[in-house]
Amino acid sequence: MTAEILKQMAEELMKCRACTFRQQAIAPVGWFGSEASPLIIVGEGPGLVEDEYGLPLIGPSGQLLDKALWAAKMTRDKVLTTNIIKCRPHNNKTPNLAEADFCARLWLDRELREIRPAVVVALGSVALHYLCGADKKISRDRGLWFKTAAGYDCIATYHPAYLLRLTGPSLVKAKWDVFHDLETARDRALSLRPGYEFSSAAPADLRSLTQKRVRRQR
Ligand code: SF4
Repeated sequence: MTAEILKQMAEELMKCRACTFRQQAIAPVGWFGSEASPLIIVGEGPGLVEDEYGLPLIGPSGQLLDKALWAAKMTRDKVLTTNIIKCRPHNNKTPNLAEADFCARLWLDRELREIRPAVVVALGSVALHYLCGADKKISRDRGLWFKTAAGYDCIATYHPAYLLRLTGPSLVKAKWDVFHDLETARDRALSLRPGYEFSSAAPADLRSLTQKRVRRQR
């Protein structure tokens, strides 16, 4: 039933024009992965590559996330990845709280209600603020457990796009932090849903699963 409802939601999502972010985007970008996963990873919003290919976290940030997941014994096909905002903000603008709230209340909240994950991982500040409160700070609160307003166990970690801007010892430390946060999230999800297989034999190559989308004339 969940798969059927999510399929219907994905079709509805493609028609959403509820805010101005849709005007510059090729089309909304939904979620990817296993709908049975007890662990959902929530990023910020699609960038250029995600908009072009129609899958979340498939660009350079996504490739870094895949490596971190693999290190923490998870693969993208066995977890579910999605975003707070579904359409690429113009010029990769960071969405403000009101913009994030608007899209997430329409779509992410419904995804979470359908999938009912044991654990939510917030990638970066935008996801952390929406899920756990605007008073939270990623630099202070990553790696800690919070309850979302809807009662999900949520842990935040750095967005991989942030790691891509770091170098030297800061990068090494941040990579370890992300690894430990993901490992902690997997362990909690496993303790709540014992027996779930978080990893395939090899990381999924998301680019091979999709083709570039074409911008339609309006
Ligand atoms: S960003 Fe969200 S609310 Fe705005 S048009 Fe896209 S899907 Fe709809």
